[in-house]
Amino acid sequence: MPECAAPAAAPELIARDRGLLWHPYAPLDGDAPYAVLGASGTRLSLGAADGTRFEAVDAMSSWWSAIHGYRNPVLDRALLEQAGRFSHVMFGGLTHAPAVELAERLVAMTPGGLDHVFLADSGSVSVEVALKLAVQYQLGRGRPRRTRFLALRGGYHGDTFAAMGVCDPVDGMHSAFPSLIAEQLFLPRPPAARQLGGELVADADELARWVGVLEDTVARHRDELAAIILEPVLQGAGGMHAYAPGALAAARRVASDNGLLLIGDEIATGLGRTGKLFGSDWAGVVPDIMCVGKALTGGYLTLAATLCSADVARAITASPLRALLHGPTFMGNPLACAVACASLELLVSAGWKDQVLGIERGLQATLAPAASLAAVREVRVLGAVGVVELTGPVNVPAVTRAALELGVWVRPFRNLVYTMPPYTSTPEDVATIGAGIRAAVARVHG
Ligand SMILES: *Cc1c(COP(=O)(O)O)cnc(C)c1O
Repeated sequence: MPECAAPAAAPELIARDRGLLWHPYAPLDGDAPYAVLGASGTRLSLGAADGTRFEAVDAMSSWWSAIHGYRNPVLDRALLEQAGRFSHVMFGGLTHAPAVELAERLVAMTPGGLDHVFLADSGSVSVEVALKLAVQYQLGRGRPRRTRFLALRGGYHGDTFAAMGVCDPVDGMHSAFPSLIAEQLFLPRPPAARQLGGELVADADELARWVGVLEDTVARHRDELAAIILEPVLQGAGGMHAYAPGALAAARRVASDNGLLLIGDEIATGLGRTGKLFGSDWAGVVPDIMCVGKALTGGYLTLAATLCSADVARAITASPLRALLHGPTFMGNPLACAVACASLELLVSAGWKDQVLGIERGLQATLAPAASLAAVREVRVLGAVGVVELTGPVNVPAVTRAALELGVWVRPFRNLVYTMPPYTSTPEDVATIGAGIRAAVARVHG
């Protein structure tokens, strides 16, 4: 066994980790992590610092990426077969079958008109590329002053500097890096929407007011704006907020009318998660630029893609620069592309829609009773996304531990205990997740 995979008992591993490794948004001496001892299908085997072992249903899909479950035989095979050919080659001056096939698949799957693909090595990087594309597009159109972005409050687009700049200005860590983050423009969160008979419905007056603010803002700032960026229909890491498809349709219309591009960040919403293949499909709109990531490789490897329309590509190609100014070392990594091809194939062959709508029904049934708990403000479900919003901040270590004791892995944030389970979750898995979340919230928060 290679040195890096040498088995160690969980308590020892956790002790060695602490103070050595940074974890996401956490201090070096933060709460002890759990050690992963194994993962298969929808199950995680975890070990705690105190030596307790847990077999848990995974309610998180490893931050919404492992949609086909762990050790999926189809994805394992795709990875091993590509490793037997070549694992990585540079993309400057070279191409290969996994990249070409993946790009063709993405163009075929995404809403019509998105014909060109940039393969990025993470979601944040794909957002950086989307922002560059928009600025280079405006430059190509002879509008060099259009370099700013209009984004939504409550949005999340990644952790690199330009991506942080279009995240919610309060939650998005702007205050920690004041002089380094370009000031962008923000619209209020679009009005919340609820599912009603397969439609996402919002209050019509609220929506009309929001559209008014959108129109005013763009009218005042159009000469400095390159694009509108948003997460279509569901804001994920910024608060699991589903909003009116009418807001998305209005953004499309106002962008087109004013020479702005629309960037659809589908890194969380894409590939079926909301019950449509893409969040944009809820409003029947096609963004000019779309980012896909997270579930793209079924959670196996880091990969994202930025797609753009022929119009965007033409403007850049016709400009003096001619090229899109980006090119990471691991661009188009063959292992990641090969697994992504297999993952997209599996999405279709396994019937993502039935999987997601089955999970949606299961989550509705099993999470609904949580609404009667005193600590719960609201329960909402959209596609394979279930959210229990508390009236105050979640006691994250306590709820995490309580859920594990009930056989469920969750990772709450702020006032949200939520689940985005793998699409391969069985009805029993979904029932376990729902019951576990309900009971963990009741036990810790009453
Ligand atoms: C996760 C996420 C990102 C960032 O992707 P990383 O791979 O973590 O860099 C960007 N946008 C949205 C909507 C996301 O959910």
